[in-house]
Amino acid sequence: MTLADVAPAALRQERTLVTEIPGPRSRELMARKHHAVAAGVGTTMPVFAVRASGGVVEDVDGNVLIDLGSGIAVTTVGSSAPRVVEAVGRQVEAFTHTCFMVTPYEGYVAVAEQLNRLTPGTHEKRSALFNTGAEAVENAVKIARAHTGRPAVVVFDHAYHGRTNLTMAMTAKVRPYKHGFGPFAPEVHRAPLSYPFRDGGLDGETAARRAIEVIDEQVGADRVAALVIEPIQGEGGFIVPAPGFLPALLEWCRAKGIVFVADEVQTGFARTGAMFACEHEGLVPDLLVSAKGIAGGLPLAAVTGRAGIMDAAHPGGLGGTYGGNPLACAAALATIETIEAGRLTDRARRIETLMTERLSRLQRDDPRIGDVRGRGAMIAVELVQPGTREPDADLARSVAAAAHAAGVIVLTCGTHGNVLRFLPPLPISDALLHEALDILAAAFARS
Ligand SMILES: *Cc1c(COP(=O)(O)O)cnc(C)c1O
Repeated sequence: MTLADVAPAALRQERTLVTEIPGPRSRELMARKHHAVAAGVGTTMPVFAVRASGGVVEDVDGNVLIDLGSGIAVTTVGSSAPRVVEAVGRQVEAFTHTCFMVTPYEGYVAVAEQLNRLTPGTHEKRSALFNTGAEAVENAVKIARAHTGRPAVVVFDHAYHGRTNLTMAMTAKVRPYKHGFGPFAPEVHRAPLSYPFRDGGLDGETAARRAIEVIDEQVGADRVAALVIEPIQGEGGFIVPAPGFLPALLEWCRAKGIVFVADEVQTGFARTGAMFACEHEGLVPDLLVSAKGIAGGLPLAAVTGRAGIMDAAHPGGLGGTYGGNPLACAAALATIETIEAGRLTDRARRIETLMTERLSRLQRDDPRIGDVRGRGAMIAVELVQPGTREPDADLARSVAAAAHAAGVIVLTCGTHGNVLRFLPPLPISDALLHEALDILAAAFARS
């Protein structure tokens, strides 16, 4: 892979600050935003974007920022990746919409074929396309209920599955996602997760037994339609469960006729150094939900899984006006081509090595960095009061703010808000990564 395959030449891959952050134009736009946009829609960065590609985002004042967020794990192949621009351009001239449920088109079928090929397992599969991660998660639940005839859904501590009514119920964290927005959908039950940093290093199988006990005692396995889990939790804090945890849950689901749903909305599409995070433990889920990285920035989401389960929903039972929009499908096909041609899963693993090496070095000298974890280009540090596991959300906030002011886009996450997470676009250069890590190290030193 060369940068020419993934980034338009127009935008220099170099951090450049020409004003303070935010600059005057961004401040003006932010004032307009406060008057025009609902207060509930927050922003991480105080600057407004005009262009993005490779590893950088340019703002309205001409500042060029290093991107360690990818718009929350979406622009994995880079923003405006050349193949995506070309494919969408061709499609936008041909037609923008017919509705797949009215006059179908090949792109939708081709994306389904690619998903069936790329997701774990060689069994016969089907896919259905939607617009957002939350919508796809909801549809996975609909399909699992149709297949099993059972009502209950099991989710986990620290889970994030979206902001619609059902997915709010499935999401763990109250603030900001649920506060004041109830009542929530019924029959959503929460089980304990494997969280190696915080559960005393409980091994995966023991942690799975603990979760199964809760489900057996508080729900009843024969009432459970689906167990929905992120193979690595995203918003919850980039929590990688102990080895063996996911396989033990999957095995138990098989034995009990429960549909195992992997929510790979954040982890999917090369992000973790494999096409899907399930592959790291050889997991073959019954259903896999994908979105975010799937279409290079265009809104698309999917449920892919066993034909016998997917086909349980009656004709007309699934769909939506925009689901599998032709522009988004063209973008997804180009994104998949970009990942495969550029061997971007290798690139994600290289980013993992570079970032964990640097962050672990930082951790050795700074007892406030309690944990360095993640896979591929999905890496995080969990911040604590020195010598304890007490979450330090203030430190996460101040380091993030310092990074933002210096022109580095970073995000926080975690149930306690004390995790800094890094989700760089895969075409980002090593030089930009090192520079961003230098800036983070300086921010830690000053915070
Ligand atoms: C972002 C996310 C969702 C929700 O996706 P939207 O497109 O924002 O609706 C669901 N699950 C996981 C794991 C996510 O990271």
